Amino acid sequence: MHKRGRFPVAILGATGTVGQRFIQLLQDHPWFKVVALTASDRSVGKKYSEACHWILPDSMPDYVKNLPLVSTLPIDVDTPLVFSALPASAALEAEPLYAKKGIVVCSNASAYRQEPDIPLLLPEINPEHTQVVPAQKNNRGWSGFIVANSNCTITGLTVALKPLQDQFGVKRAMIVSMQAISGAGYPGVASLDIFGNVIPYIPDEERRMEWEPRKMLGSVQGESLELADFKISAHANRVPVIEGHMLCVNVEFEQKASLEEVAQALRHYQAPEISRNLPSAPPSVILLKDEANRPQPRLDICAGNGMTTVVGRLRPDSILDYKMVILSHNTIRGAAGGSIYNAELLVSQGLL
Ligand code: NAP
Repeated sequence: MHKRGRFPVAILGATGTVGQRFIQLLQDHPWFKVVALTASDRSVGKKYSEACHWILPDSMPDYVKNLPLVSTLPIDVDTPLVFSALPASAALEAEPLYAKKGIVVCSNASAYRQEPDIPLLLPEINPEHTQVVPAQKNNRGWSGFIVANSNCTITGLTVALKPLQDQFGVKRAMIVSMQAISGAGYPGVASLDIFGNVIPYIPDEERRMEWEPRKMLGSVQGESLELADFKISAHANRVPVIEGHMLCVNVEFEQKASLEEVAQALRHYQAPEISRNLPSAPPSVILLKDEANRPQPRLDICAGNGMTTVVGRLRPDSILDYKMVILSHNTIRGAAGGSIYNAELLVSQGLL
């Protein structure tokens, strides 16, 4: 905890789909207090309530209604930490300038995910990846630094693969996504395109789905992060669901495992000690459902306040070893909630 009370924080891109989740989740946060909000030039100078088209089910919290939107660039916030919900193109330019100014950036954007010295953090999976932060600062001459979230589609996949990788070794996986429309931001996909329809293409998504889990399940090697050695083949589909990305996954292991051993590995997985009791930690990292027709986005998306990964339909596969269905909340675990959890980890590791 900050020695003078809650850490003052800013949200970059505060009016968007992910920005709104940050505002909702940070409303009563015990460690962080939102003091500044940014958006695009379209919104700068307006009050938050005038500029934001609020799309979440609960009302806009009172604490932000009268906050003015300030510019993202030039930097007009003075906080030790910012949560970035900027589009990738804006993040590419802005995030390094914040880090250079000494600010810690917890980013949701894809702009720097591929950099070997920028961690793609999931505190319940890879808290040790922050070991590359000193090298990042040193290499780039920054007094602040960037940590990123993964693509929201494969957050749940990576969480579920972690205990399987630890116990049996993952050799390869095939994944087919059914991704919610909120994953495309607001206004996102046109209603005429998605209503009563499935779109079997999301630009650049399959490449990220095949690559990012390997970074998150990889290891720290000196000053950089090395990819785990397995293969993923992915199909990405957009479906008419509001929130919750679901994946059908077939996986092959290095070592043979019984169905019961796989179920136990998923059911009993616990976050590493340092991440287990943070304010945003999921009560259970993984919830394994036994019902034949679960998980379902409408029924299961809020498990563990949207932070738990829900797995179901675990069964043997006739080509690889096992198959299952994985569900994860894209704007909470896959975005704002995950980013807040990352910042809590940085505090507990003394990096903030
Ligand atoms: P969004 O709904 O389109 O919101 C974008 C936000 O960025 C708005 O506040 C917008 O402000 C602001 N913005 C746009 N252009 C800007 C610029 N040039 N300079 C400064 N601010 C600018 O997008 P989103 O879905 O929230 O996604 C935000 C980021 O999170 C993206 O990088 C996305 O890939 C990532 N992400 C999204 C999800 C998800 O489920 N949606 C999950 C994980 C990660 P105005 O209101 O003024 O236009």
